[in-house]
Amino acid sequence: MKRSGFSTATLAIVALAALFLTALTLTAASLLRTGRQGALSESQAEVTRFVSSAEVAFNRSLLGVDILLTTIAGQLELSKRLATEIDPVPASRVMQSVVQANLLVQYVALLNAQGGVVASSEAAAGSLAVVLPKGFVEDTLAQVVPTLTISAPKQSFTSAETVLYFGRRLKMSDGANMLAVAEVNMATLTTILLQGVDIPGLEVTLETRAGQLLASAPYIDKMVGKQLAAPLALPLVDPLQQNQGLHRLSRLGEVPSIMAVRPALAQNVLIAASVPIEVALLAWRKQRQFVLIVASLFALMVLAAGGFAVWYFHHLRRSQLAVTQDKATLDQALGSMVNGFLLLNGQHQVVQWNRRYEEIFPWQAGNMTPMMPYRQMMHLAAVKRLPNGTGAEIQSWVDRRMDMLMDPKGTHDVLQPNGKIIQVAEQRTPSGGVVITFQDVTQLRRAIDEVEHLAFYDALTSLPNRRLLTDRVQQALTASERSGRFGALLFLDLDHFKILNDTLGHDLGDQLLLQVAQRLKSCVRVEDTVARLGGDEFVVMLQSVGAQAIEAAALAKSVGEKILTSVNQPFTLDSHTHNCGCSIGATIFGQGHQTPTDLLRQADIAMYQAKHSGRNALCFFDPEMLKTITARSDMEKDLKRALAGGQFRLFYQVQMTHGGTPVGAEALIRWQHPELGMVAPAAFIGLAEETGLIVPIGQWVLQAACAQLKSWDSRPKFKDLQVAVNVSARQFRQADFVNDVRDALARSGANPNRLELELTESMVLHNVIDTIQKMKELKSIGVRLSMDDFGTGYSSLAYLTQLPLDQLKIDQSFVRNIGIQATDSVIIQTIIGMAHNLGLEVIAEGVETKGQQDFLLEHGCPLCQGYLFSKPLPLSEFEMFLC
Ligand code: C2E
Ligand code: MG
Ligand code: MG
Repeated sequence: MKRSGFSTATLAIVALAALFLTALTLTAASLLRTGRQGALSESQAEVTRFVSSAEVAFNRSLLGVDILLTTIAGQLELSKRLATEIDPVPASRVMQSVVQANLLVQYVALLNAQGGVVASSEAAAGSLAVVLPKGFVEDTLAQVVPTLTISAPKQSFTSAETVLYFGRRLKMSDGANMLAVAEVNMATLTTILLQGVDIPGLEVTLETRAGQLLASAPYIDKMVGKQLAAPLALPLVDPLQQNQGLHRLSRLGEVPSIMAVRPALAQNVLIAASVPIEVALLAWRKQRQFVLIVASLFALMVLAAGGFAVWYFHHLRRSQLAVTQDKATLDQALGSMVNGFLLLNGQHQVVQWNRRYEEIFPWQAGNMTPMMPYRQMMHLAAVKRLPNGTGAEIQSWVDRRMDMLMDPKGTHDVLQPNGKIIQVAEQRTPSGGVVITFQDVTQLRRAIDEVEHLAFYDALTSLPNRRLLTDRVQQALTASERSGRFGALLFLDLDHFKILNDTLGHDLGDQLLLQVAQRLKSCVRVEDTVARLGGDEFVVMLQSVGAQAIEAAALAKSVGEKILTSVNQPFTLDSHTHNCGCSIGATIFGQGHQTPTDLLRQADIAMYQAKHSGRNALCFFDPEMLKTITARSDMEKDLKRALAGGQFRLFYQVQMTHGGTPVGAEALIRWQHPELGMVAPAAFIGLAEETGLIVPIGQWVLQAACAQLKSWDSRPKFKDLQVAVNVSARQFRQADFVNDVRDALARSGANPNRLELELTESMVLHNVIDTIQKMKELKSIGVRLSMDDFGTGYSSLAYLTQLPLDQLKIDQSFVRNIGIQATDSVIIQTIIGMAHNLGLEVIAEGVETKGQQDFLLEHGCPLCQGYLFSKPLPLSEFEMFLC
């Protein structure tokens, strides 16, 4: 449609230009034709005017000559005389005087009927015969009514110039005819005919009706007297009318000319004047040239204007196309926008919106029309939003919305009736309108809420996490400072939660944590905070529990006990019934300057105290504890230094048969502390376990023991000894523990069969499958495996049968009670029986008395280790002991 619009415009321009050009051509042509006709008419008029005046002049001359001839006849009284009576001498005189008075006539003669000269104005030539053109005399005399006749041109016998003879018949007294002849000079006649007029190209002829040229201007000697191409045949009824616009060939030059012809008074003589058309049109031609140039310029201008218009329309069209394309692109872009879009003009009418807008506001979709007032749209929205609203309420909603539009302030969220959250962004356009975009931020807001929740709440129990707790503790501290009232913090750790988690699985572990969270919440007021720090650690913050510290402590204690009682109630986890205890550490806040970190640490320390005191108990923070903790952290630093500074030693405690044969030694670590002296492992192994330092320490022990084994290879008394090395749980769990053992053996060159690793039951329980795999690998190297402190853990017989063990080591706590606690003696007997059944070696540690040894011997435990034989000894002493 646009394209045809464009062609129509081009066609119209072309047609208009053609019309202009045609009109221009027609105008120019008509102008030229009129000009031409004008020029011709003017020329015609001029020629006619000229010929008229030439005729008058010529006629006057004829009349003059006629009068001259008649005057001569009168003066000579010819009518009264006979021809013979004329005396030539006086007659010549008379004639001479008459001729002198006439400028035109040069010579006059009186001839008889035979043409002989009777008298003439030239006395001397009186006898001369006048040679007149042939027939002239006869024709003149033959006239019935005598008139002036004109001869053909002839050379004058007196002047030798070309002349014309004018003749008149005269009657003598006897009736005889005489002829008076006047000779007229051609040049004079020509001058008379031209009358001093200067018309360019003018050609004047005096000729007979038969077409014989008598005289002409310009004078052409050779043509005078000649017969012209065609006689001028003209009906001479009304010469003035008849001869108008006579275009003929000119008489002399025979070129197309404008001609006017007049008959002279003399019989048969015509005066013709002509101007060549070429000459007549000379001025017009110049004018034509000018008109053509001007017309061409006009035509060029029209063409240029037309061309420009076509170009302009073309350009316009292209611009329109570009605008259309841009609009299409914009529409497409708007259509594919993920946000809703609405454009309002300065009058707040809807100019444009996109598909997404209709999706967000489906109830608007069908009702929207371009240029619809935004207020009307808002009214629709208000009705949707406030279905039960009164007219005034709806109006006020609309007014509020319009006020916001008048003063756009960036973005705001709108909750849709369908629950979606739409972020509305309004922005003014330079033209005073408003661009509004609508983004569905429901998911985003939810995600933000979720992230916020995750950041501040525990994912499992939805209780506040450490971060939020810290924040709340800080607020509580500030509030306490202001109010002077005390608060309390209870740090709670479930007892043996790890075992539950490991044995019954994480799902049940999680169930327990959820139920504990519920119970904790039920034990406190709404304004108190129950938080989960992670794992099985919970914190309860009690706010404003008393004006005195003692009062606050009492309340904290009662809440703590309430919690203990609550947690001690059995939990139902799926089909399991689980009994759980917890250790609670409590601290009071509200006096002095404290930080949340301090308070949490204090409660944590108290909780450890509760754990140490036998679990399932409540302990208040004791500043003494803090000292211990600080000492531990100092020791950690010292341990690192010890490792780097080679302060560890290995002591060896002999393992013997009842017969006193040493079969091996247990390598026991000691710390040669620069200040404290020799430190026993009990003082630092636990800390090393907690901090992870046990791993490098354990590696050192392994390497030192292997090196010792190797060095004993060459000594007969020692070369068969087995060396038992204690392996900590954390060390054993290292992914490359087996490699470390392999490394230590390879590096030292010790015999693997003489290396015995002492494992504990708890490390076996941690991840049974992985542990068995590791133990098998160790066995494949050739290393012996012993289960240390056997009987204290939770080893079930089922596991024991699967473990590739070599030895069970009866824990010294049972040995100590031999003869004291009957149950322990039974346990020892059970262990010995179990070892026998499984084909395992059995050894008892902590054997201090002969009685204990005897009991063991009696019940089939062949090997012993204990103070009864030797304490753990430094290498040199040990070697001496064996020698
Ligand atoms: P354990 O492996 O059960 O070692 C036996 C402990 O009992 C040793 O204490 C030993 O001196 C002591 N003992 C031996 N016979 C008697 C006795 O007749 N009466 C009494 N009362 N005690 C006796 P020690 O050397 O203080 O080691 C304590 C614990 O430290 C060891 O218990 C072991 O679990 C750990 N330990 C020692 N050395 C290392 C080591 O190199 N690495 C690791 N991971 N743990 C080690
Ligand atoms: Mg041991
Ligand atoms: Mg032991």
